[in-house]
Amino acid sequence: MRPCYQVTELLGDGIGPELSRAVHHLALALPIGLEFLPVDFSLESRRAHGKKVYDEAVEKITATRVALKHPTTTAEESPNAILRRRLELSVIHRPVYTIPAVPTNFRRELDVDIVRIATGGTYDDPGRMIGRDGAVSLRIVERGPVREAARYAFNLARKTGKRVTSSSKYTIQKATDGLFEQVAQEVAGQFPEVPHSVELFDALLGKIIMSPEKFQIVLVLNEYGDFLSDMACGLAGSLGIGASANLGFDPAAVVRVALFDAAHGTAPDIAGKNVANPTAIFLALSLLFYQLGEIAIGQAVKNATLDLLRQGVRTGDLGGKETTESFTAAVAASVAERLAPQQPDPRASTLAPP
Ligand code: NAD
Repeated sequence: MRPCYQVTELLGDGIGPELSRAVHHLALALPIGLEFLPVDFSLESRRAHGKKVYDEAVEKITATRVALKHPTTTAEESPNAILRRRLELSVIHRPVYTIPAVPTNFRRELDVDIVRIATGGTYDDPGRMIGRDGAVSLRIVERGPVREAARYAFNLARKTGKRVTSSSKYTIQKATDGLFEQVAQEVAGQFPEVPHSVELFDALLGKIIMSPEKFQIVLVLNEYGDFLSDMACGLAGSLGIGASANLGFDPAAVVRVALFDAAHGTAPDIAGKNVANPTAIFLALSLLFYQLGEIAIGQAVKNATLDLLRQGVRTGDLGGKETTESFTAAVAASVAERLAPQQPDPRASTLAPP
């Protein structure tokens, strides 16, 4: 019997409904069942029902443990910030790779998974003045969130056969970054089959530009992850096409909830015109499959989408002629073909030894 998974789907604004239809179309091509539990997260619904909508979202996401979020209008409040706080999403996984058809000044191929601790560092304390001419702020690194992020990064490496680089300035920030690297080493010890290396963060930035193929999964503290994500997105030229996973953990550092979304917004200028590019939401869905442990399906969705872009099958924003629906149909057909059970080769019986 084929496995069936429940997924909370946060329905959004602008191009959100079209993206939702595209996801449902693609889901029909998969060899697993997906039962979507919708939450109306549109601005109208949030304005009409306020806290109730967030309560419903938190309740459903806690139950299904995975969620796909469509873009939402930021008006009175930031829905993303509220969800992050209420679900205690403390780690962000942001894959960044060069995408065929997306113009970039960078002439190499980049494919790096950034796993960023999304709390602490220098970002939790605004600091204070000391007298008139000095200022000080606290830099906070805690064992718990580092362990959660490290376990996630090493588990991802184990599932995908990739290697992990942890990066910081442990030679200078001896206490804070030293603790980070110590915890990363402890977790690495639980994954002896996963190659692990350590790079000073300034050196890492240069090396990613010069030898991007050497870096696969990079584990970093909050501010380093912030800088690295933007630099990598700039290299890939794909600020608007990426997707990310926002992760919350249980006390044993196991993923408790995971919310996946596209980096772009609601694109009100093209809403309802069947021209929106569903690439980013498909890449978010691909990440969701990795989280479910459906690695082959995650890879099929990602590779089908990228291969079609490479072949020139693209929506208008990338210079192509496809509509949302026709691009989705092409991805769905390609995914179905990639995941179809292998037919026995009719020549096999004559070729096989007796
Ligand atoms: P945007 O990403 O919505 O649009 C920027 C430009 O990119 C527009 O020209 C748009 O047409 C284009 N674009 C975006 N996504 C596209 C897609 N899938 N296919 C084709 N073209 C696409 O950014 P914005 O205009 O600054 O923001 C619009 C609204 O979205 C705002 O209310 C903002 O708060 C919200 N927003 C939400 C999220 C989120 O929910 N995660 C993220 C960013 C912005």
